[in-house]
Amino acid sequence: MSFGFDLLATDGAARAGLLRTAHGEVATPTFMAVGTAGTVKAMTTDAVRATGAKIVLGNTYHLMLRPTAERVARLGGLHKMMDWPGPILTDSGGFQIMSLAKLRKLDETGVTFRSHLDGSAHHLTPERSMEIQFLLDSTITMVLDECTKFPATEDEAAESMRLSARWARRSRDAFVPRDGYGQFGIVQGGVYEGLRRESVDALRAIGFEGYAIGGLAVGEGQAMMFEMLEITAPMLPADKPRYLMGVGTPDDLLGSVARGVDMFDCVMPTRAGRTARAFTSRGVFNLRNARFIDDARPLDEACGCLCCTRHTRAYLHHLIRCEEILGPMLLTMHNLTYYQSLMTGARAAIFERRYEAYCTATRAGWQES
Ligand SMILES: [Zn+2]
Repeated sequence: MSFGFDLLATDGAARAGLLRTAHGEVATPTFMAVGTAGTVKAMTTDAVRATGAKIVLGNTYHLMLRPTAERVARLGGLHKMMDWPGPILTDSGGFQIMSLAKLRKLDETGVTFRSHLDGSAHHLTPERSMEIQFLLDSTITMVLDECTKFPATEDEAAESMRLSARWARRSRDAFVPRDGYGQFGIVQGGVYEGLRRESVDALRAIGFEGYAIGGLAVGEGQAMMFEMLEITAPMLPADKPRYLMGVGTPDDLLGSVARGVDMFDCVMPTRAGRTARAFTSRGVFNLRNARFIDDARPLDEACGCLCCTRHTRAYLHHLIRCEEILGPMLLTMHNLTYYQSLMTGARAAIFERRYEAYCTATRAGWQES
């Protein structure tokens, strides 16, 4: 099967589509569960599938350090190693080097850094990042880029974006095309419209199977993020998938879909699940709170996940208080199911051209807890 994207319906700027890959199809808009080190934390792959997830994300930085890309390849690739035959998107490693690694130094060739695990020295170039993602057998490979810091002056954002554009060219040249596999370019340019335009033009001239919008959700706030999406999304080709990296809350997702985004990833639902927080159709709950001690209701009456159909809020509160590992497992399961149902509902609403009403009703529900 060749890699492709069918745009099936629109409602305003909101889009419903179908991503076709060598490892299966993904209905969009979609949320990708984050499987940093070859596992969606606290979840078996059967449990991930049961949430409705069709595609997961793996992290180049973590996997290149441990167990190493070459070892993953010897184990049959990331799909086989983690028992996830579906599509996998891998990031390029750049973002996490900047947030996790020590003594990092960036120059034209790439980025030199020391591992946060053992201090060992590494040099990641666009070419090496593509090689690593090839060894991982990633369905969707991301170009190596520099995520422009926020705040950044226009000159700083321009310099950073142009470096990313040169790395995008090198990433494309180093990418090995395979049937059903794709590579996404990443739009940078900070909060400057002219730079976003220059970045999009440079990436479209190279040509990718999809386009990511990077450098947002880095501290600029939701209003500015939405403003940048309104500027950037219409510049991107309509017949290619659009991925907003590292976003976000349920409200961020609804607002970004409304502005033309198809794909998301974020640690929020999984990380929140490990810290006793639940995203529900009635807003965010902290299950550590004593008000749940005798609450025999399901966590979310509107949810069909195992956590909500088989257990009570009181039991979840008990598990959290006792620091039982099942607590984070059940909350992660629920949170990922909630994110998937949010996207499934959005898709149905776009087909029926009632997306705005869907957002209004969903947001009203969050106020009812
Ligand atoms: Zn649930």
